[in-house]
Amino acid sequence: MSRICFFDTKPYDKIYFDMFKDKFGFEIDYFEPKLNADTAIMARGYEVVVAFVNDTIDAKTIDILYNEGVRLIAMRCAGYNNIDFKAAYGKIHVVRVPAYSPYAVAEHAMALLLTLNRKIHRAYNRTKEHNFSLNGLTGFDLYGKTIGVIGTGKIGRVFIDICKGFGMKVLAYDPYPVKDVGIHYVDLDELCRESDIISLHCPLTKETKHMIKKETIQQMKKGIYIINTSRGALIDSEALLNAIKEEQVGGAVLDVYEEETEFFYEDLSGEIIKDDILSGLISMPNVIVTSHQAFLTREALNKIAEITLQNIKEYFSNAGLANEICYQCIKLSNCEKTDKNRCF
Ligand code: NAD
Repeated sequence: MSRICFFDTKPYDKIYFDMFKDKFGFEIDYFEPKLNADTAIMARGYEVVVAFVNDTIDAKTIDILYNEGVRLIAMRCAGYNNIDFKAAYGKIHVVRVPAYSPYAVAEHAMALLLTLNRKIHRAYNRTKEHNFSLNGLTGFDLYGKTIGVIGTGKIGRVFIDICKGFGMKVLAYDPYPVKDVGIHYVDLDELCRESDIISLHCPLTKETKHMIKKETIQQMKKGIYIINTSRGALIDSEALLNAIKEEQVGGAVLDVYEEETEFFYEDLSGEIIKDDILSGLISMPNVIVTSHQAFLTREALNKIAEITLQNIKEYFSNAGLANEICYQCIKLSNCEKTDKNRCF
């Protein structure tokens, strides 16, 4: 039986991976710390590590993992902006779970929008205190409003369908538009100018980092709502906080935050949060922050566990790696795979 090690373990990870480990014939050693250059040494003696979105898989971490004998990093997520692929290339294969449930993320985005707009977060607290006043809880009909969707991949398209179900007008921007699916594409400037609500569904890359910044926010309608369930650094958080204070932005719902690695997934309820921007955002009545939980449904956790372990099985059985990704796959989309269908 092959042994693999698992970083940044939470109780719900264990439940779903334990359900599948016998089927694939693995022993899993679960570690609580996040994977980074300080903890990578824990992987000594393992050929495979399972990692997640807030692990720091930079050149230093990769060097240590490689020297300790690791040859496969199995990401149990779709995103991969936390990996230095150039450092890994030729040394450690990287696989991921490209799709597990676009519905989980898209539905969470809509849940956040409905909560923000109809002030459910405030109403919940009020009625718990037997405060049945409605003052300050006025929302607006989503029906007939214009929503701008940035990124029309798997999640963006499910989100668009949900919005259409609400009778919203959808504008979309994607440098690689999908043909014949009835999506009305416009350029990013028009989307920013015309939308009442904007939702981000594109990956974090060098090009998309801070795509929502002071200048873009200034182009938007006063009172715009912004939804981010993609990656925190798509938004310049300081510019967002300022725009909320200035009431240019009418509300923001954030499942991700650019400096989330230090905070998200941990219970820090007794601690001082030394990040004034995060604290500032959380303190606003019209900002809702969830802790990168959009993926967290039973269906998604099932698929994540099954596909991750399938990816690892392919590695151990010397088969092609269907879900491998390297810097060439990302940059050029024309990685010349080996005869074995591996990136190197
Ligand atoms: P996807 O690869 O199917 O779609 C991404 C889309 O973004 C593609 O159509 C691509 O062409 C487009 N895109 C690329 N560059 C762009 C740009 N500059 N501007 C606009 N669009 C651009 O990915 P997906 O499965 O739909 O996931 C989208 C993002 O959601 C992921 O990158 C990930 O960061 C995030 N995500 C978050 C969670 C969560 O729990 N919050 C879970 C899964 C995924």
